[in-house]
Amino acid sequence: MRTKFIFITGGVLSSLGKGLASASIGALMEARGLTITLLKFDPYINVDPGTMNPFQHGEVFVTDDGAETDLDLGHYERYTHAKLSQKNNCTTGRIYHSVITKERRGDYLGGTVQVIPHITDEIKGTILELADNVDVVITEVGGTVGDIESLPFLEAIRQLKGDLGRENVCYIHLTLVPHIKAAGELKTKPTQHSVKELREIGIQPDILLCRTDRFLPPEIKAKIALFCNVEQDAVVTAKDVETIYEVPVVFHHEGLDEKIVEFLHMWTKAPDLSMWENIVGKLKNPTDEVTIAVVGKYVNLRDSYKSLTEALVHGGLANECQVNLQYVDSEEIEHSGIGDGMSRADGILVPGGFGQRGIEGKIEAIRHAREHGVPFFGICLGMQLAVVEYARNLPDLQRAHSAEFDPDTPHPVIYLMKEWINYQKDTTERRDEGSDKGGTMRLGAYPCHIKKGSFAHKAYRREVITERHRHRYEFNNRYRELLTDKGMRTSGLSPDNELVEIIEIPDHPWFLGCQFHPEFKSRLWDPHPLFREFIKASLNDKRRRR
Ligand code: GLN
Repeated sequence: MRTKFIFITGGVLSSLGKGLASASIGALMEARGLTITLLKFDPYINVDPGTMNPFQHGEVFVTDDGAETDLDLGHYERYTHAKLSQKNNCTTGRIYHSVITKERRGDYLGGTVQVIPHITDEIKGTILELADNVDVVITEVGGTVGDIESLPFLEAIRQLKGDLGRENVCYIHLTLVPHIKAAGELKTKPTQHSVKELREIGIQPDILLCRTDRFLPPEIKAKIALFCNVEQDAVVTAKDVETIYEVPVVFHHEGLDEKIVEFLHMWTKAPDLSMWENIVGKLKNPTDEVTIAVVGKYVNLRDSYKSLTEALVHGGLANECQVNLQYVDSEEIEHSGIGDGMSRADGILVPGGFGQRGIEGKIEAIRHAREHGVPFFGICLGMQLAVVEYARNLPDLQRAHSAEFDPDTPHPVIYLMKEWINYQKDTTERRDEGSDKGGTMRLGAYPCHIKKGSFAHKAYRREVITERHRHRYEFNNRYRELLTDKGMRTSGLSPDNELVEIIEIPDHPWFLGCQFHPEFKSRLWDPHPLFREFIKASLNDKRRRR
């Protein structure tokens, strides 16, 4: 079978859930036995989101090969079995970078380099490069139709229909059908305008996904179909759902996957959605619940902890329990101490982060967890600060800190490694305080050896694991012996024993910090072992206290 291409665009406004819709379409294609991959285009000029503030942009998702990507790739990996890498996320910046590099090299033979055809060809090349060995390439174009920035991407996908043939390309457009209370009516005008805008640049959508709070009645679908020039059964309700994992199920019941394979002339096996239906059933009927305090800085922007919150949901699912998150601003702790709410939490989690703000508050939260036997999970920065907190309790190390926050500390228990091996490139990298901010991090998958008898080993039930990293600072080996003599356990180490990847406090119900980001690898059908065990410990703690 020839590779087929699905393009997903968005209209009316942002945040309609285009990433989730794309991921769900991937899940539906897989449920029909097809192999897929996904690609996200981001129309901004940054080469990748690595240097962007998560406050503005949300989480930076890291793939195995160490690419710093848009958070939608997290959805793609959580909903499908696609193996994603640097090739699956591309920005305007990357496209121009590549075209300009070619121009300097003289690849364009003295021609004038232009948006059409040079930029559009580069975009098309990025899509076509993914077509090997998969049945369907699903491409999501970031931004909203009408933005100046996304025009070259839309022009490129428009051209592809001619290049590849009508039956190999399907355009899906996500819009909004709001219910206006005062009129008591669903309004189709925003959708009409958005489709009009898309048609002006030459793209006639095949399928419309209409985001709305209720199922669209047939007469509304008929109206949209008429005004937007699509078939009536190609107007799909993308109804608000209780849990995001319900989206594939709702799309399927609306006939979306059937319509896609019809457009693309594909004959597939009957879709099997039992896994999704099962999981949604379990998520909606938990047998118990736990409350986890997440202590961080960007607390008002949940997007910056997207993978983390999903991994907690998965961990809950593994224990048939609902996980209630209590976001705690670490600066609040600095001002007013451990509040009532937080002291009632069944588990405490300090996630990854950068920057000085709220650091002492996080350390205070870790102290509380350690002293009161509350299950604790520290991720990346959370692990580093757990080391600092532990060190500060030793008579000789009271002024211990991470060199990131106090470059002059007499005891940099967490420090900047000047030299490290890049496993992806098999090279030795060097960095110092003056290095570029992009590209000096330990990024992507690294192997780790687990010590038997540890919390980590009980969770993974394996001795060698690989996990994804995104950080500059590391555990300082100068303090390893002292800290382990005083009761800290280093239960995960790099194969050469040089890098401390997991620390634990054995004399505690469950206290674990890891230098990597386990949340990136958690799946609904395969909850991450550390999240599973953390939730289990929190549940036990709660039951013990009851
Ligand atoms: N700021 C820390 C470092 O760079 C931790 C990073 C993180 O939590 N991802 O090492």
